[in-house]
Amino acid sequence: MPKANTPFCLVLTGTGTDVGKTVATATLLRCLLDRKRTAMAVKIVQTGINAQDEGKSCASDSYYYHLASAEAPFATATTLHTFPLAASPHLAAKRVGQSLSCRMLAQEIKDFVLAHAHYDVLLFETAGGLHVPLSEQEDWLTLLPMLDFPVVLCAANCLGTLNHTQLSLDALERSGCEVLGLILSATHPAPDETEAIIRNNNLSLLKNRQSRLTLCSLPYTQLSAERMADLAQNLLPLAEVILAQKAYRPKADLLERDRASLWHPYSSVNACPPLSVVRTAYANRLVLEDGRELIDGMSSWWCAVHGYRHPHLESALTRQLARLPHVMFGGLTHAGAISLGERLKSHLPSALSRVFLADSGSVAVEVAMKMALQYQYGIGEKQRTRFLTPLGGYHGDTMGAMSVCDPVNGMHQLFTSCLAQQIFLPRPACRFDQPFAEQSLDAARQIFAQKGQEIAAVILEPIVQGAGGMWFYHPDYLNGLAELCHACGALLIFDEIATGFGHTGKFFALEWTRICPDILCLGKALTGGTLTMAATLCTEQVASGICANGQVFMHGPTFMGNPLACAVANASLDLLEQGSWQQQVQDIEQVMRRELAPCAGLANVRDVRVLGDIGVVETKGPVETDRLYGFFVDHGVWIRPFNNLVYLMPPYISPLEDIETLCRAIYAALAETGTGAEPRA
Ligand code: PMP
Repeated sequence: MPKANTPFCLVLTGTGTDVGKTVATATLLRCLLDRKRTAMAVKIVQTGINAQDEGKSCASDSYYYHLASAEAPFATATTLHTFPLAASPHLAAKRVGQSLSCRMLAQEIKDFVLAHAHYDVLLFETAGGLHVPLSEQEDWLTLLPMLDFPVVLCAANCLGTLNHTQLSLDALERSGCEVLGLILSATHPAPDETEAIIRNNNLSLLKNRQSRLTLCSLPYTQLSAERMADLAQNLLPLAEVILAQKAYRPKADLLERDRASLWHPYSSVNACPPLSVVRTAYANRLVLEDGRELIDGMSSWWCAVHGYRHPHLESALTRQLARLPHVMFGGLTHAGAISLGERLKSHLPSALSRVFLADSGSVAVEVAMKMALQYQYGIGEKQRTRFLTPLGGYHGDTMGAMSVCDPVNGMHQLFTSCLAQQIFLPRPACRFDQPFAEQSLDAARQIFAQKGQEIAAVILEPIVQGAGGMWFYHPDYLNGLAELCHACGALLIFDEIATGFGHTGKFFALEWTRICPDILCLGKALTGGTLTMAATLCTEQVASGICANGQVFMHGPTFMGNPLACAVANASLDLLEQGSWQQQVQDIEQVMRRELAPCAGLANVRDVRVLGDIGVVETKGPVETDRLYGFFVDHGVWIRPFNNLVYLMPPYISPLEDIETLCRAIYAALAETGTGAEPRA
């Protein structure tokens, strides 16, 4: 629930060090106090000050905040971290054996805001410019998007201002920060007429170029309590903007507007499922509109394996955006698509030599099925028009893909009459973690014997059946099935849209087997969870069968090979190729095994299984999904169960204590609600 009062939080940052940021912050504070608002200025990290001098020495910023607000009857100034070394925060902290991290600072600031919910406005001042380091790897530009507060940029009005200001505004925009205004300060008296001309020109140029920002200027002044009231007049336009925003805390009606216009996955417009508005996300955290943060247990449906807003993925996207966001793939090509094709192949058995880029998982499955049909047609096996697939499978929501989803438990019973009639096998009975039993392939043998000549291809998700039941089965089932396909002339399609890119502990799930499929579908984590893209690969044998007798492959989506998606997919491969995913997935697996094990003792739980970063608790009956949804959000985690499955598939970069929290939330939810009990016969 949104709180009755949420302070308006603003960050004041600068184009560099000594650009007048502190005077600007103090003056804005005074301006707000003069408008009878409760406001406080907060220095996030102060360096160059001994703790006991904080606020007293004029070397500390809060000294000026006090100067501006001496008469206020409530606290108007504070500092979160103080270090004696006059250097950047990461060096100053290191000197006293400490370290800062953006995650820690973000949490601290959010806690601070919660503790000061009765204030109207909180002004947070950074130390130095945007790229000043807070830790070895992070700077203010890492922290600001985590806070997601609007920003006011402060600049010294002098020669060079236009350049520094524009570069800082560009960087803020790239980081997704909302810039409310600009404060240009004269940090020393103008020495001559030239300087005066430059300052005036800076102001008028910025006024024109940045017309959507509120631009204020502060004249040079020797700061004193007496002068503050006059000085504050200069920032009135900015204070008006802040107070207008504070009065209009807009997004409260987002849910209503959503409900009036949109449709969500697998939902009815009449009985709206619970819904939360996400404002932003970072690492493994989703930040809701009301400021609450959820630990993500879902990787946004298997995709966001590197977490959200990974800087390497973001910069790949920004660079590509500036060069070529999209171009048709018919008759044209580009370096990003070529590299992506080559790099995907380099992670796969060499037999998979052709890459067809598609725009979503379902489309990749359609492409795979069309490849199989065109191949059989091309080699003269025109009677092979059906697909064989195990029950419990899931391959997407388009017509072809639906025809090979589980026909009973799947979501597509409604369409059965107009779907191609495929052939179904029992779900592979042999568990991944049990010795393989040869009989699990008996049903397949039988079907091949009876209907083998009709089968164009077998399609299935290797090792893990995902959305159809989160079921892990034995690699030898796939080894045996491949032999049967080969002997009969049917192709083998692996749908690795869900399992690919590390989820099962191997780069691709096919690495658990001895075999290579004829066709392979990839998607989901391909772009690290940023843009929609998928790929279907096939062997040269399949490609030449399709293209026999001058035929072409009949598929070509508008957004095929989209350069933005290729760029971010290549960037995601960069991260995966660095290799840390392997240890991360192993560690996550270990924690989930340990922490989910107690669930097996609950009366409503049938099975607990873990493989790679996939942790599943299967209940005896269907769970009350809406009730669990509320429970999880209230407990600060994002877990979205379906049917009788409560499962996790967290981003690989998740801290292990967050994995523990996710697992314990599942235990608590099932223990406390008792949902998912065996249905009465
Ligand atoms: N195949 C599998 C194995 C999947 O898990 C999914 C998506 N859950 C799809 C295909 C369909 O992908 P998309 O949602 O991108 O169309």
